[in-house]
Amino acid sequence: MERDKMFVEHWQDRWDQGKMSWHEFEGNNNLKQNFDIFVNGRKAVKIFVPLCGKTLDMKWIAEQGHTVVGVELAEKAILEFFTENCVPFKRKHVLMLPAGELFKSLDGNISIYCCSIFDISQDVLGLFDGIWDRGSLVAINIDDRQRYVSLMLSLMAPGCNCLLESFIYDPTNRNGPPHPIDDDTLEEIYGTTCKIQHLSKSNSLREQQLWGFDPIIKRLSLITLK
Ligand code: SAH
Repeated sequence: MERDKMFVEHWQDRWDQGKMSWHEFEGNNNLKQNFDIFVNGRKAVKIFVPLCGKTLDMKWIAEQGHTVVGVELAEKAILEFFTENCVPFKRKHVLMLPAGELFKSLDGNISIYCCSIFDISQDVLGLFDGIWDRGSLVAINIDDRQRYVSLMLSLMAPGCNCLLESFIYDPTNRNGPPHPIDDDTLEEIYGTTCKIQHLSKSNSLREQQLWGFDPIIKRLSLITLK
């Protein structure tokens, strides 16, 4: 429990100090370029964005006609998401989630739960048709990875596509997050229950410049229940 509190404080400090080097001011290109594969022609599906920060991807996905549910522990991130994007919202208490609060757009298309991802369960959120995992699995402490993956698996409806962006680099070059995840590790954590397809692998120039070493590979993977 103490350890959990330490991580919560770490992230809250980063938001308080405005240190969000991961934030993409124009949203994520991989998501836009692979969106057809992700939703697979389905209309009005339910998409989960774990550890959502204030990513513009939530707004973009909602604009494509889908419903978005995010989870984020920093209230500041959620408030900035709604105010910076001029999306009117209301706050609600959730009976099943005494440790958290729900922030919901008035049109009902975007819901963001303010709590730790580990406070969440299928009972609270139901099942999803898609999971957009960018800056999420890679941000989770390595000791909590399996717990996180079990949760994601429990939230996947039949036919759910999990689109995952992650990095491959030599861990001796830098301490995460984002933590690197090589192909074998990904196979280890998702491979038993899921089929993993790598859609792309490319040199990540942004991170190479930011962190000052190379190679850093950005990989996009499609994970589906077997
Ligand atoms: N997916 C977003 C944010 C990535 S950074 C994007 O692409 O921009 C990781 C985010 O997860 C941070 O905003 C941090 O505050 C949040 N976070 C970290 N641990 C969390 C946890 N256990 N539960 C919920 N949110 C968490």
